[in-house]
Amino acid sequence: MNKKKDEWEVTLSPEQFKVLRECGTEPPFTGKYVNHKNDGIYVCAGCGNELFSSDTKYESGSGWPSFWNQTSENSTERRIDNSSGMKRIEIICKKCGGHLGHVFDDGPNPTGLRYCVNSLSLDFKAADTE
Ligand code: FE
Repeated sequence: MNKKKDEWEVTLSPEQFKVLRECGTEPPFTGKYVNHKNDGIYVCAGCGNELFSSDTKYESGSGWPSFWNQTSENSTERRIDNSSGMKRIEIICKKCGGHLGHVFDDGPNPTGLRYCVNSLSLDFKAADTE
């Protein structure tokens, strides 16, 4: 999905635009999904691509929503990020290329991964309840 800058500016809030399209980071412990515990799927706020299941969300203490896995191989893509004097692995939405956050190798079993994601990059789709 290749939208131009002004097209994204129409569909995203200024705060979402800064994170998703300009690789910004929301301040820790400020995002609306940090302590969110409902059952459902977290999707990309830019394009709706399914990214993370509530089943893999856990309390990392980092101040950002954290997951130990992505929903599928089509969810995220990795990119080397050498900004801010650190060597990190950036995760972007595989469908629209929006910046989501970073992935680290200090997560819990079974993957040992910590997908550290900005709330601003996410929307939440609640599971159907019966
Ligand atoms: Fe996306």
